[in-house]
Amino acid sequence: MRAVPEIRIREERCKGCGICVEFCPEDVLALGEDGLVRVVRPERCVWCELCELLCPDFAVELWGEKPRGRGKADASVAG
Ligand code: SF4
Ligand code: SF4
Repeated sequence: MRAVPEIRIREERCKGCGICVEFCPEDVLALGEDGLVRVVRPERCVWCELCELLCPDFAVELWGEKPRGRGKADASVAG
């Protein structure tokens, strides 16, 4: 099974700007009716880290051990 991170939202920091929702390529995140971010499809996360990098308030944290080396292995096969 593909590894996915545990996505933690620090609600006390989230201001509901929606940047993470907008940029997530897999629609993992959504704004709830209370204006805070919810993790709605965690199984679809591709661990691109955009949400963690782009959140201006450091409200998103990705936890877990990200698989490493796949990019290099692919490059060596292709080259
Ligand atoms: S790491 Fe990427 S795919 Fe996963 S929730 Fe964040 S933006 Fe979406
Ligand atoms: S980018 Fe950060 S502050 Fe904005 S909605 Fe997402 S978690 Fe909340």
